[in-house]
Amino acid sequence: MNDRKSTVLPTEIRELLPELIAWRRDFHSRPEMGYEEHRTAGLVAQRLRAFGVDEVAEGIGRTGVVGIIRNGGGPTVGLRADMDALPITEVSGRPHRSAIDGMMHACGHDGHTTMLLGAAYYLARTRRFSGTVVLIFQPAEEGKAGAKAMLDEGLLDRFPCDAIYGLHNVPGLPAGQIAVSPGAVMAAIDSFEIRITGKGGHAALPHLNRDPVVAAASLIMSAQSVVSRNRDPNHAAVLSVTRLVAGEADNATPDTATLKGSVRFLEVGDGAQIEADLARIVRGTAETFGVQAELLYTVGRPQTVNHEREANVARRAAESLTSCVSVAARQVPLLASEDFSYFLQARPGAFAFLGAGEKSPALHTAHYDFNDDLLGPGAAFLSRVAEAELSR
Ligand SMILES: [Zn+2]
Ligand SMILES: [Zn+2]
Repeated sequence: MNDRKSTVLPTEIRELLPELIAWRRDFHSRPEMGYEEHRTAGLVAQRLRAFGVDEVAEGIGRTGVVGIIRNGGGPTVGLRADMDALPITEVSGRPHRSAIDGMMHACGHDGHTTMLLGAAYYLARTRRFSGTVVLIFQPAEEGKAGAKAMLDEGLLDRFPCDAIYGLHNVPGLPAGQIAVSPGAVMAAIDSFEIRITGKGGHAALPHLNRDPVVAAASLIMSAQSVVSRNRDPNHAAVLSVTRLVAGEADNATPDTATLKGSVRFLEVGDGAQIEADLARIVRGTAETFGVQAELLYTVGRPQTVNHEREANVARRAAESLTSCVSVAARQVPLLASEDFSYFLQARPGAFAFLGAGEKSPALHTAHYDFNDDLLGPGAAFLSRVAEAELSR
């Protein structure tokens, strides 16, 4: 982003920009893990009150915060940000680097929270809409289903939303570029564990043993065919064996071997087929090597599937802001997962990607830092989506 573009942000967002940057860096320096975002949530609630939003509710989904801005009759639109950090040690010489060892904002949720604060400030001041905006600051997005926790605690019963929107910064896309399309844009994630039980013994006497290590090795190779030979090539999916634990001595065959892994897929329904294919390979491998093998398959969070109308609303909102954002031709799906998926199962909505720049370090890495150039454009985009849904 260059200076010319940042000067054409909406006035209210432009005037708040120095504070947005300071707040983002403060959040960055004081990361908190899922459901422990007490300081972050406290600051969010305090600022929402200072902005003059009409109602602030705290403690929804343990550390979640909700702000409400009402302006006459009309529909209700939800805007969501996430607040939690990751158990990664930051490698950085930046003054605002994490002050806490082994914990950092490596996914940019510090930036997401700050952008939604920027939108809250703008919407509370300008109120150029008719209806209600629900600002949702959720805890524990990283693998702890904070979105589900807020929904389970009645978020949408207390604050019924007609549509919900969110966004994620994406390194690799041009800075300030918005990508949003209908359909699945992030993957479902399942996990599995395979326990192989053979018969251990002396490494010199293989004929007296039942080797679980060779069975595990064969199983890992066979599992590669689950996606490559059994899935429609137009259905994106990944199956990765990420952990293999077996044996202790280099001159003894162990009794057991354990494999663990991760499955990602974009098409609803592919998970059950992948599980069935994997189960067949596990049974076949056990038979082949004369061992016992058990598959424990865990269904995780669902795909993030954008609804058509809402994806188009978000896209048009981005197109109306070309003074400060650019718009990608389409949103290329990511095989990572997002618990915004739970909101999209409960309500229509869309999840957009906001480019963080081609040179930005990847998410979930020790060198990552949220790109502050996105704060203004991201806040403007979220604001515009609300105005588009609640246009008078
Ligand atoms: Zn993440
Ligand atoms: Zn994230």
